[in-house]
Amino acid sequence: MLVSAKEMLTKAKEGHYAVGQFNINNLEWTKAILLTAEEQKSPVILGVSEGAGKYMCGFKTVTNMVKAMIEELNITVPVALHLDHGSYEACYKCIDAGFSSIMFDGSHYPIEENVAKTKELVQVCAEKGLSLEAEVGSIGGEEDGVVGMGECADPAECKMIADLGVTMLAAGIGNIHGKYPANWAGLSFETLAAISEKVGKMPLVLHGGTGIPEDMIKKAIDLGVSKINVNTECQLAFAAATRTYVEAGKDLQGKGFDPRKLLAPGVEAIKATVKEKMELFGSVGKA
Ligand SMILES: [Zn+2]
Repeated sequence: MLVSAKEMLTKAKEGHYAVGQFNINNLEWTKAILLTAEEQKSPVILGVSEGAGKYMCGFKTVTNMVKAMIEELNITVPVALHLDHGSYEACYKCIDAGFSSIMFDGSHYPIEENVAKTKELVQVCAEKGLSLEAEVGSIGGEEDGVVGMGECADPAECKMIADLGVTMLAAGIGNIHGKYPANWAGLSFETLAAISEKVGKMPLVLHGGTGIPEDMIKKAIDLGVSKINVNTECQLAFAAATRTYVEAGKDLQGKGFDPRKLLAPGVEAIKATVKEKMELFGSVGKA
């Protein structure tokens, strides 16, 4: 069964750990993440970007696949199915499709319009029992064509959006999507501490979890981050494992071309990455 992310993130904030959001792209990705969450007894959030939703033939296909997989694989840990960086229109599509959590990324709207649309979605999500993530200050890097500058969010603006009744808040603190450049300045813990103080119990979300050093991740969790988004790292692990398989010529040996064999090393690599992240975030055994 799918659940809202509210309870798992409230518990995470109280318990000083974080729940990972792992983005999915297909059946193999979803299976790898769900099986690892169950093995590690960890709550988990499956992230779906609009682009990935399109790729998987629409949000309804995704919901049905995830629900069926939870049943067929006997997954007992809490699983939230979450729209990542959703437009206003995509939010409604996912609510209709049966997602249990959405992120409304209104960061490109003027603040008044962002507030108005967020308020409306707070109401709809409350009625339907979904969790809602809002974003303040854009997050750097590029994700599915959405390009941000990587600024630090204004703590006062964070407080204002938090007070609208959202479930969790993503705030830019120098983090970016994708691989971090060699000259990256690191996370701004000063900004994070100021935001945390303003928003109190509200779980904070750290986007762009790939490549942030472990000590920074731990410090961010100490300062109130309860959800960490991981996307690129699973992609890199999958690609590297698949490359190794093909470069070793294994697809040319026997039935090595069978997709169930060809994709298996990549699946194992995703599982290993997810396990490693769950251990780092402290969510193992918390389900
Ligand atoms: Zn993001």
